[in-house]
Amino acid sequence: MIANYGYEDGSGHYYIRIDTSKCADCKDKGCISACPETLFATELDDFDDEVVLIREDARNTLQNSCSQCKASGEIELCTKACTADAIGFSW
Ligand code: SF4
Ligand code: SF4
Repeated sequence: MIANYGYEDGSGHYYIRIDTSKCADCKDKGCISACPETLFATELDDFDDEVVLIREDARNTLQNSCSQCKASGEIELCTKACTADAIGFSW
């Protein structure tokens, strides 16, 4: 399943997209420890597979939370850690 977490405002749209079908097969879940803002959490999906999501209380402040990672000019730390290429950003 493709899950989108985030929001839109006058300055743009800020969504993180996670392909949770890839998370089910991911053993180390490296995105969780890679994120300095601890935005990722886990849950069990409908098939009892452990997948990641963005914390509910962080979804409306993603632009701010991710600003340091994105300001570095390099690929985001979570994207770098996710060898399955399951994470995408809308901005
Ligand atoms: S590292 Fe990638 S595939 Fe693994 S749990 Fe995180 S987002 Fe999913
Ligand atoms: S860009 Fe940085 S702060 Fe934002 S989710 Fe990825 S690792 Fe976390």
